[in-house]
Amino acid sequence: MADTNVRIEQFRKMAADDPDNELGHFSLGRAYLDADLHDGAIASFQRAIDLNPQMSRAYQLLGVALLRKGHKDLAIGALGKGILVAQERGDRMPCNEMVQMLRDMGAPVPELKKAEAPRPVGDGEVFCHRCNRIGPKLASAPFNNAQGREICEKICQPCWREWIAMGTKVINELRLSMVDPEAQRIFDQHMREFLNLS
Ligand SMILES: [Zn+2]
Repeated sequence: MADTNVRIEQFRKMAADDPDNELGHFSLGRAYLDADLHDGAIASFQRAIDLNPQMSRAYQLLGVALLRKGHKDLAIGALGKGILVAQERGDRMPCNEMVQMLRDMGAPVPELKKAEAPRPVGDGEVFCHRCNRIGPKLASAPFNNAQGREICEKICQPCWREWIAMGTKVINELRLSMVDPEAQRIFDQHMREFLNLS
């Protein structure tokens, strides 16, 4: 578990140095969950949700941690809220997974609304997967590969700028060396989580 302990230490530092960064708390929660430290995981996911109530994955993992801790009713509450948030945002994968978790528990599933028809996306605009709104599109793909093109198709300019600021923090806090493929993988994982790309 050396690796997990290192991750916990890194994310603990990240969350402490930048306490309003939801991603730090979310990542710390996941590291705690992997280590079966459920109290820490519950507190971290709760903090991430307080900072960003739109983070549907945090409700899902909060539900997992609560369930493992034996708090079934609290888990059902967290998953129910998470399903509504995920549905509102169009996060289909977490939404389906949380519905399945409630069904597996024999708990009632919140009624899902029918999606309203959104206004059409105009020229130079994009429907953003992070903020769930139509916003200005990036002038060009930020990387010359499939991931760069995906970002250009799915992420608005303001959200991309937010990630650039956050990405710098991730590199510094986790001391990532971007020539190391493992560091690149960790960086990409954080980026996809931040941008809400599954
Ligand atoms: Zn956006």
